[in-house]
Amino acid sequence: MSSAATEHAADDAAAAAGIPLDAPFLSIGFSAHELCTRCGSCIGVCPENAIELDERKFPRLIPERCTRCGLCAVVCSGAEVRYADLSEQVFGNRVADSGFDGQVSKIYVGHAADERLRSGGAGGGLATALLWHLLRTGAVDGCMATRMNGERPWEAEPFLAATLEDLLASQGSRYAIIPMNQLWSQMRGQSGKYAAAILPCQTHGFRLLQKADPELASRVTAVVGLFCGGSLEPVLAREMLAVRGIRRDEVSDFKFRGGKWPGQMQAVLKDGRVRPLHYSNYKDGAYNYLTSLYMPERCQTCLDGSNEYGDVAVSDAWTRDEQGEYKFKAHSRLLVRTPRGAELVRAAQEAGDIVLHDVSADPNYLTHRLQTRRKGSLAPLRVERWRKAGRRVPAYDRGTPDDATFKERMMERMSSALLRAGKWRPFRIAVMGLLTSVWAVPLITVRLWLKKRKYLRRAKRKASAS
Ligand SMILES: Cc1cc2nc3c(=O)[nH]c(=O)nc-3n(C[C@H](O)[C@H](O)[C@H](O)COP(=O)(O)OP(=O)(O)OC[C@H]3O[C@@H](n4cnc5c(N)ncnc54)[C@H](O)[C@@H]3O)c2cc1C
Ligand code: SF4
Ligand code: SF4
Ligand code: SF4
Repeated sequence: MSSAATEHAADDAAAAAGIPLDAPFLSIGFSAHELCTRCGSCIGVCPENAIELDERKFPRLIPERCTRCGLCAVVCSGAEVRYADLSEQVFGNRVADSGFDGQVSKIYVGHAADERLRSGGAGGGLATALLWHLLRTGAVDGCMATRMNGERPWEAEPFLAATLEDLLASQGSRYAIIPMNQLWSQMRGQSGKYAAAILPCQTHGFRLLQKADPELASRVTAVVGLFCGGSLEPVLAREMLAVRGIRRDEVSDFKFRGGKWPGQMQAVLKDGRVRPLHYSNYKDGAYNYLTSLYMPERCQTCLDGSNEYGDVAVSDAWTRDEQGEYKFKAHSRLLVRTPRGAELVRAAQEAGDIVLHDVSADPNYLTHRLQTRRKGSLAPLRVERWRKAGRRVPAYDRGTPDDATFKERMMERMSSALLRAGKWRPFRIAVMGLLTSVWAVPLITVRLWLKKRKYLRRAKRKASAS
């Protein structure tokens, strides 16, 4: 039993009740936080409501309610992801590794047709436009989505969206752990069909639910998968407010990507003022640094970046032109995977709810190497290294990239060291203080200049070769 687990009264009570937290009928989150994605599947599936969330959003057992039915262990993908089994279930083949983008039938770049949905989206609002299409046409009664808590607006939470207003409030990316699949228990208590916008680990949990409780799972009729390069510890928003000198009782909303695309982290104050929390936009000025400090341990060993088992998968459209400028501002990229996903996209397009450009024939729209690095090469290397060092890591039926270079191995070690240092609060606060201050502006400017130069050089080389 981990010492972290015994910090909690409910877990101590479990021990007293004779339930060891690593009992095989329990999901992994009780005995090994480092393997728990905090997807919420165990909470959502438990027929006895015997699992609650602790303050860090890990599952916590309420022992007197547990009947030892084992369902929570069956839907848990924390300790093991069997990609061949998932492929068999979703695509009817046993391909364990089909590259970063997974199995795809079509690739589009597009946006919501409704300007409100487009402007409120993380990218082009495609994810929400697909949910809205299903809700508007009566195909579903609700959607698994996220929002900021009304009383504690620095905390993100899952909820079932049932109206356009709900969906507008749910839009945008919240770079924080949100145990989405806990919503299954709410769905069980009411009738109706649902659609889900969820991250890859949550999709894995849903696919396991289809085996464990097919009746409940059949009520979720579409999975709009979101790409995920890694989530951030929920404490980030509180610490960021503190670093920027903003009192929590002043705040009415916390935006991870507020304002003009691609957005910026912002605190909306009760008096209506909007306080940017860093310089530049979220991509150039915050997210990449924050993932280096706040990424949870299980995200560091997660290999699915493209939501390989969603019916569709939606990502940002970061493709740049030869001058290094974004080609598709305020657009999302959409990967169609299953026949169900293809039908949803066809129907939403025909109804005029989404606007799409088919880019399937253009290899430039496959996720490029820079974006795939974190999960495509660094995470598999980390899993291998940690396993050899005797640490608990998830089991995968996927190997380590044979072609990993010396540079990639060094990068993995450096990023792991930074993440380890990020566990130490004074370090991460000092680094965040620097990177969100005006002192970061020259750093960002140099970084952007180097990036631009790289694109221009590449364009020049191309021109001289042709
Ligand atoms: C933690 C995280 C990491 C991501 N990493 C990448 C990445 O590396 N590369 C990339 O291309 N895209 C990534 N994305 C996806 C990207 O940010 C957009 O969500 C996606 O492109 C859809 O944009 P949209 O405008 O179509 O969606 P919108 O219409 O804005 O809808 C966004 C949907 O995401 C849901 N959502 C927001 N936060 C969460 C959360 N924490 N957990 C579950 N659901 C959530 C909302 O409820 C909403 O339904 C990530 C998203 C998250 C939440
Ligand atoms: S089901 Fe999800 S939240 Fe529960 S223990 Fe497993 S990984 Fe953690
Ligand atoms: S009742 Fe079943 S699902 Fe709930 S905690 Fe106990 S073993 Fe897990
Ligand atoms: S990195 Fe993996 S484990 Fe972490 S939130 Fe994203 S999909 Fe889940």
